[in-house]
Amino acid sequence: MTLTGKRTWARCLALLLVSVSVAGAEPSARARYVFLFIGDGMGSNQVAAVDRALAAAGRDPLVLREFPVRGMQRTRSASDEITDSAAGGTALATGVRTDNGMISMTPDGSVLRTLAEEAKSAGRKVGILSSVSLDHATPAVFYAHCHRRGSYSEIARQLADSAVDFFGGGGLAGQAAEHPGEPDNLQRAISNGFVVVRTRQALAELAPGGKVLAFNHRLAGSAALPSALDTLPDDIPLAEFTGACIRLLEQDKGFFVMVEGGKIDWACHDNDLGSMTAELLAFDQAIRQAVAFSRLHADETLIVVTADHETGGLEALPGGPFSPEVLLGPTRSDSSLTGEMLARRAGYRFTSRGHTGADVCVWALGSGAGEFAGVQDNTEIARKIRAAMEGDGRGAGQAVGVGDHPIQPTPGPSKEGNCRNPPLTPPRRGTGKNPPLNPSKEGNGKEPTP
Ligand SMILES: [Zn+2]
Repeated sequence: MTLTGKRTWARCLALLLVSVSVAGAEPSARARYVFLFIGDGMGSNQVAAVDRALAAAGRDPLVLREFPVRGMQRTRSASDEITDSAAGGTALATGVRTDNGMISMTPDGSVLRTLAEEAKSAGRKVGILSSVSLDHATPAVFYAHCHRRGSYSEIARQLADSAVDFFGGGGLAGQAAEHPGEPDNLQRAISNGFVVVRTRQALAELAPGGKVLAFNHRLAGSAALPSALDTLPDDIPLAEFTGACIRLLEQDKGFFVMVEGGKIDWACHDNDLGSMTAELLAFDQAIRQAVAFSRLHADETLIVVTADHETGGLEALPGGPFSPEVLLGPTRSDSSLTGEMLARRAGYRFTSRGHTGADVCVWALGSGAGEFAGVQDNTEIARKIRAAMEGDGRGAGQAVGVGDHPIQPTPGPSKEGNCRNPPLTPPRRGTGKNPPLNPSKEGNGKEPTP
């Protein structure tokens, strides 16, 4: 190599080193307060339809419009191009893709460490909220490990044994004990130190400190919150649970809060456009609580909003009429054929009663938000949130032993029902492979859906 060649090479190397160091020096912003909002089944067309209706009605747009960063997320699971909420949630909670039906475990049954567990081990407070039951798949993937999303009693037992600081929203589908003679899982939670509140006043009077299980005083089918369209004045909406959670968990070491708009999915399974709109608006109100908080803590708050998958295959009718009142006008949920006809009158149609494999949107605001731009796998969301919470120890998604789970400080007695043990029977898989053709017939939209 000539001297000139050596100089050129040295210059290139220097430039390379500079560019590497610049890339490495990019602020890996540490977010003290982290929110992950999951609109279950909330595809981009659902968001666009509601935004379009709001604009036509002269109402304020969704708060998502204010988010500076927007990306897309691929949603498939390890077992199917179309994910269910268990595998989709596991990807978001752990950064690892798994089979449909599995709750924060790998396809071969290893326990996956979750963002919530990692946050807890770093001294953060943890809040898990949902408009459906708190042991349903999406909330469960943050604190439980189970081969079968339908093992509600087992998941609720893990909830009762967990170190989560605040649960809010729906109740427990698996309140009954797994085995005769055992206390039910609500009693178990109380024995483990959870304070249970069921009214707006009791929620407002709670002081920070201690573990909280906050339910609405009345629950709909499958222990979910009443549908947003059927809410009565004394019901506690998702946004109010979110506001209470923020107030109770704010502390120097920060928090990780996951809020699920779970009934967006149920309304889309029912092909009920009006109910979907109401659920999405209720979810929007919950996001607004976090956005208001972030304005007071702008440089230390990260808010990520996304979905686990799309439900219903919603699409606009080409050249069709558009009637925003069909989306914004209904005053009660409607899963009948009338709802389908109403969707068409609004200029839309559902092409499925199940989930689809469509990509979904990701919105981000605040500390580290820029990482969420562009197209990414669902597994990358958890990894990026982990990076934003840097310094929290081992990575989310690493398979670790049961004893290493700070969110499960009191592992239950080892018995056949303990889902963290190897399965005695082969796990049921592929629940998302055959989305129900008509879930409303099975439960009028009030039953748990994939
Ligand atoms: Zn679903």
